[in-house]
Amino acid sequence: MSTLSATQTDWLNRGQSVLMNTYKQFPVALSHGEGCYLWDVNGKKYLDFVSGIAVNCLGYGHPALTEKLSEQAAKLLHCSNLYWNTPQVELAEMLTSVSAFSRVFFCNSGAEAVEAALKLARKASQVKYGQNRSTVIAMENSFHGRTYGAMSLTGQSKYHAGYAPLVSEIVHVPFNNLEALQAQLTEHVCAILVEPIQGEGGVQPADPQYLKALRAICDERDILLIFDEVQSGIGRTGKLFAYEWSGVAPDIITLAKGLGGGFPIGAMLVNEKAAPYFQPGDHASTFGGNPMACMAGKTVLSVLLEEDLLSNVMAQGTYLAQKLAALKALYPEKIQEVRGMKLMQGIELNQSVAPVIDACLERGLLLVGAGPNVIRFVPPLIVQTEQIDEAMHILADVLAAME
Ligand SMILES: *Cc1c(COP(=O)(O)O)cnc(C)c1O
Repeated sequence: MSTLSATQTDWLNRGQSVLMNTYKQFPVALSHGEGCYLWDVNGKKYLDFVSGIAVNCLGYGHPALTEKLSEQAAKLLHCSNLYWNTPQVELAEMLTSVSAFSRVFFCNSGAEAVEAALKLARKASQVKYGQNRSTVIAMENSFHGRTYGAMSLTGQSKYHAGYAPLVSEIVHVPFNNLEALQAQLTEHVCAILVEPIQGEGGVQPADPQYLKALRAICDERDILLIFDEVQSGIGRTGKLFAYEWSGVAPDIITLAKGLGGGFPIGAMLVNEKAAPYFQPGDHASTFGGNPMACMAGKTVLSVLLEEDLLSNVMAQGTYLAQKLAALKALYPEKIQEVRGMKLMQGIELNQSVAPVIDACLERGLLLVGAGPNVIRFVPPLIVQTEQIDEAMHILADVLAAME
């Protein structure tokens, strides 16, 4: 971009010459943030409706996170799981007291949480039923991460290209389609994996009736039901976990993204049916349950629950959905559909989203796609009405200027 000053261009050039070329990146190097706003190294301000992709749920520079992490950094940065650490125990207590689950395994990312769930599901089935029952049913258009197991579970061929052979015994079925799933229900199935609302795959909520039916099938056949809540969990949909909306409690959920508010952490939460199948030595992570990460998780949950941030997510999420619906009414030929749950919204356009996202960035609004035709809106959970108005104003201007 011609408007970039030397400083930012410099960083982009330096990055391009030493970093692996794995990301399609905007020509912006970020420097710092406050609340729902970010600044690049040139001093340009952005309203952030990306949140590190549903990560920075408390926004930037939240005083509680800054204080608790500074204290913990001075006290204990890391200790091995050869020993106990107190923030890990406390975060597990908090997570189990506010969920349908009784045990936690900590790791460092969403993909790792999914790997843990895949391993646990197969282990549980092998112990109970022997070798020939290791098939996992996952959904088309899903996203579960980039490690081999998580990538193989991901139901989008673009993520598989070039990586054969994938992890075997994984079957993909169309999302929200019970008949298609039933057709794949053999005696070899040990688990069903689903996102209660698909994020990366285009912001598609699961039908609550579909999730109820999956629960019934899993109970009847002693199959483990796994919900990937890496994106939908930790308040994003107005409930602490998206599964609460359906009234269906799965056997396992995976968490990451919002859990640390920006500090890397992942977790697998498990009920008593599944928990006993991991025994000492079966699974591990050097950094999993690290005291800094768990202090971040504890602080995020405390702020969410004690400051009643969920009410804000409900109110602002409803407002955002209304504003997007109004925008669709204004540009029915440009916006095909608005869908989502509270602060996890998407609009499907009749065109590629890239030029719209680029133009919004130029105007100081950060947005992210979810597939080629969907723009995702995942602002920090602390977002206020004025910021939603500001974002909608920029988006409306950009859409108006689009051919
Ligand atoms: C982002 C995401 C993942 C992968 O998380 P990473 O931390 O990038 O490994 C897995 N599942 C879902 C639903 C996600 O949105």
